[in-house]
Amino acid sequence: MTQLERQQWDVVVVGAGGAGLRAAIEARERGRRTAVICKSLFGKAHTVMAEGGIAASMGNVNAGDNWQVHFRDTMRGGKFLNQWRMAELHAREAPERVWELETWGALFDRTPDGRISQRNFGGHEYPRLAHVGDRTGLELIRTLQQKIVSLQQQDKREFGDYEARLKVFQECTVTRVLKDGERVSGAFCYERESGRFFVLEAPAVVLATGGIGKSFKVTSNSWEYTG
Ligand SMILES: Cc1cc2nc3c(=O)[nH]c(=O)nc-3n(C[C@H](O)[C@H](O)[C@H](O)COP(=O)(O)OP(=O)(O)OC[C@H]3O[C@@H](n4cnc5c(N)ncnc54)[C@H](O)[C@@H]3O)c2cc1C
Repeated sequence: MTQLERQQWDVVVVGAGGAGLRAAIEARERGRRTAVICKSLFGKAHTVMAEGGIAASMGNVNAGDNWQVHFRDTMRGGKFLNQWRMAELHAREAPERVWELETWGALFDRTPDGRISQRNFGGHEYPRLAHVGDRTGLELIRTLQQKIVSLQQQDKREFGDYEARLKVFQECTVTRVLKDGERVSGAFCYERESGRFFVLEAPAVVLATGGIGKSFKVTSNSWEYTG
């Protein structure tokens, strides 16, 4: 019988796009030992393709904007099929998340008077998209990765090990979420380079694996968007 390597973590985050990296940072900042696993290279997530910008009702270009209008636009754009609570959180928190990215090193385009610029985008009533030229997703991923590296450097100083509380497993695919009875207990993983299997055990598994755009024959979604 093959011996499987098993590692214990507090949190396993599956996916290293914008969603996964932000979740991993939060878990690590709350003191949880966190593993991030992604099936392609670190930094290659679909998020890098986002060009238009980040919708956030900062009201920098049109002062009439607010989170309620953003919430309405989001629900309307989703034909009211959206999970409304998620849409509400998104609309309420987006401006704070944009500011947070700037404090972590992102630099958004500016209005003539120096505020974060916002532009029009389909489905949004007001100019609302904070952007970095046409490479917003790239800047977002770069910034979140930089934040992860800075947390790892803190851990190196404190524990002598960069990966003591935050480790990235790249080019590794989760093929199964494991359960112990009714509870999630970890993830079964496959490393592309070596072909080895391993298990990450954790009482919390965050699925941030993106969408399933590749189910359409013609799509601008990246090849790995397979759900
Ligand atoms: C061309 C284009 C332009 C866009 N422009 C914008 C825009 O301007 N503004 C905007 O808000 N949105 C835009 N979007 C949408 C936006 O890019 C996505 O909604 C967003 O990037 C999703 O982020 P995510 O973190 O959920 O997923 P992703 O960035 O796709 O990350 C998913 C992660 O999960 C990993 N993964 C998947 N399955 C597994 C598995 N089994 N095991 C291990 N890892 C796995 C992947 O390797 C990856 O790291 C655009 C989309 C496209 C296609």
